[in-house]
Amino acid sequence: MPVHVRLLPAPPDTGYVFRRTDLGGFEIPATVESVAHCGYAMTLMRTGVMLSTVEHLLSAFIGVGIDNAIVELDNLELPILDGSARPFVEMIQKAGIRRQRKSRTYLRIVREIELREGDKFIAVYPADAYSVSYSINFPHPLIGKQSFCVRLTNGSYLKEIAPARTFGFLHEADAMRQQGLIRGASIENAIVLNRDEVLNPPLRFQDEFVRHKVLDLIGDLALLGKQILGSVVADRAGHAMHTALVSRILRDRSYWEETALEDETAVPTLASAASLSA
Ligand SMILES: [Zn+2]
Repeated sequence: MPVHVRLLPAPPDTGYVFRRTDLGGFEIPATVESVAHCGYAMTLMRTGVMLSTVEHLLSAFIGVGIDNAIVELDNLELPILDGSARPFVEMIQKAGIRRQRKSRTYLRIVREIELREGDKFIAVYPADAYSVSYSINFPHPLIGKQSFCVRLTNGSYLKEIAPARTFGFLHEADAMRQQGLIRGASIENAIVLNRDEVLNPPLRFQDEFVRHKVLDLIGDLALLGKQILGSVVADRAGHAMHTALVSRILRDRSYWEETALEDETAVPTLASAASLSA
């Protein structure tokens, strides 16, 4: 079924709000209270209305630096497109960025938080800018151990993170389709691997897998509702742990403070609307 997506400007303090135009404009805010479940993709839900696969678009918003936006769509799942955030970045760039006259606030981490679950780990530490350091270890000859660190400044998201595609294993693809999680999953919208090779080369980066995990993390942490000033470290985490970190941060005000930066006195939103159909 085709889906039409439209990105619209929004006033300061809106955050990211999804609007189901097929359901009379029912709104679902991208907040941690709306998170329904996180398996392969993040799903939001409000009074029974669902919205799935939101993390790549949210990641693009944070990566480009958009604080407020309305996202209209007429289906229950955002299109996966090429499996990366690049098409969403291009959409945002097409709409343009406008600065609203209100001081931009950040969520500054002031105390470290570390969460562990078996061999999975996620933490956030105080820092002057948003950075992510991610490690994965997949028992696959082409993935194995990969680590990637990025500081989200000066367009590094656009060059180093946005193009990284999601990946899946051939033996999992059928199970995912059966659960209806990835509509029409194919070599067009994911890196597909069998036991020892990539079925649709070339990779966009030799370490595209871990870069995509960074992309997902940035999207999941967008549920904080503000740009972060902090250094996030993750090891073999996933959507559930990313979201657990968000809940943990928001639950206790002593871990963070709202702060404005001197050189940033305006809040960025979209300058106009942009749409795509898939
Ligand atoms: Zn993803």
